[in-house]
Amino acid sequence: MSTTTAEQAESWSSEQVGEPPFGDEPLTAELRAERAARARVAAARLAAEGVEGVILGWVDNAGLARVKTVPVRRLEQAAAWGVGAAPSFDVFLVDDSITTSRHIGGPAGDLRLIPDLGRLTRLAAQPGWAWAPADRYAQDGTVHPGCQRRFAQRMIHAARLRGLDLRAGIEIEWVVALADAPEQPPVYPTHGPAYGLHRLVDLSDYLRDLLHAFDEQGLSVLQLHPEYAPGQFELSLAAQGPLGAADTTVLARQTIRAVGRRHGLRTSYAPAVEPGGVGNGGHLHLSLWREGRNLAQGGPGPYGLNGEAESFLAGVLAELPALLALGAPSPASYLRLLPQRWAGAFQCWGMENREAALRLIPGPPGEGAGSANAEFKCFDAAANPYLLLGAVLAAGLTGVDARRALPAETCDDPALLPEGEVPRLPGTLAESVAAYRTSGVLREAMGDPLYEAVLAVRLGEIELFAGHSPEQLAAATRWRY
Ligand code: GLU
Ligand code: MG
Repeated sequence: MSTTTAEQAESWSSEQVGEPPFGDEPLTAELRAERAARARVAAARLAAEGVEGVILGWVDNAGLARVKTVPVRRLEQAAAWGVGAAPSFDVFLVDDSITTSRHIGGPAGDLRLIPDLGRLTRLAAQPGWAWAPADRYAQDGTVHPGCQRRFAQRMIHAARLRGLDLRAGIEIEWVVALADAPEQPPVYPTHGPAYGLHRLVDLSDYLRDLLHAFDEQGLSVLQLHPEYAPGQFELSLAAQGPLGAADTTVLARQTIRAVGRRHGLRTSYAPAVEPGGVGNGGHLHLSLWREGRNLAQGGPGPYGLNGEAESFLAGVLAELPALLALGAPSPASYLRLLPQRWAGAFQCWGMENREAALRLIPGPPGEGAGSANAEFKCFDAAANPYLLLGAVLAAGLTGVDARRALPAETCDDPALLPEGEVPRLPGTLAESVAAYRTSGVLREAMGDPLYEAVLAVRLGEIELFAGHSPEQLAAATRWRY
């Protein structure tokens, strides 16, 4: 359960808004030389700090973080020319089987992983390692059309062209189990009550080390607490520009996993660790800004929303069934996305309504202009954060362009209202995929190669898990994310 604290409000308003604009510029010889020079300096610094290897990471369309690594002395070469990776990674499924798609797939071809040196981070819980998120290019230096991170950058740029900036943060929920016990069924290291002090005492050293690792890596934690499900915790991070928020999500998850290993714990971000229980959400908080002003306040719309912010949120709300194919991307996501689990299973909005997919958060009165934000609760931790943020931007900007208005507010628990009064979001991945298939907004924004590769992965996983019981589905995905 998230709250808006004074500290969160502060960070929402005082941090720099967004990243520099990015289009689809190819890597020229000049850019390669510039990168090499920067990497040389960075590599020398990292080596002096004891770093041996650098992880170049990306997230695939199934939502899994994949990596290649280089010795630190090869960073300069990697920054200029990249590291090879097969395009078929775009059609990997959650169980590592490989499908194919209309534009991408098959054994031929090579892409280059190019690290973003701006995010190069020495890893606190993996001594001797550093990490950087990678963009994917073709060998000739043009951007790979299937690159999810570049898609997010294109959408940030599209917002910039309208004078708009998004600030975002993804809440991280996870479950820990004992690493030296059998994987199935999980054995939890604490049996304390939900949100209970017990759990904090049982895992005190682990949680302290987490805070320390986040701090060392420059990640600004707002809050950390035991969550509802057995072995479950949650951590929220300060809002950033969308690309920074997606990178931070990847780094945060890797850090939590690594700290866990050092404490004999196995980490799961699966949407449903136990079928029938509360799952791992990946709630997306966002606010829209123009010229340094938060558009969630002081406007004529509901609760002071400015017209553009209302239209942006209305655009995302309308597109949610299709967006779930990106934000709730696994068949297992639908074991989580159920009414009365605070997962936001209804396509509606409400002020501080935790059963609405879109929860408006005004922030305590007088807390400052930065604190108001909106939370999309229906997304989970299996989502590729780059795809999700890019797609949410695309849907929101479509709403802005069409001057969409929000529908009537839902103030109560939609599950208790007469059936059909509030639309239920898709109940299966197949339903979300059906909406995705008719989404002109997403197809146009993502471009055919990326759009089709995602579709192929979703269809592949629907087939993979067809006929699985909820228990089998949860067991098959529990330790993959
Ligand atoms: N774990 C819940 C989910 O699946 C969310 C609980 C909360 O509101 O933080 O989204
Ligand atoms: Mg939570």
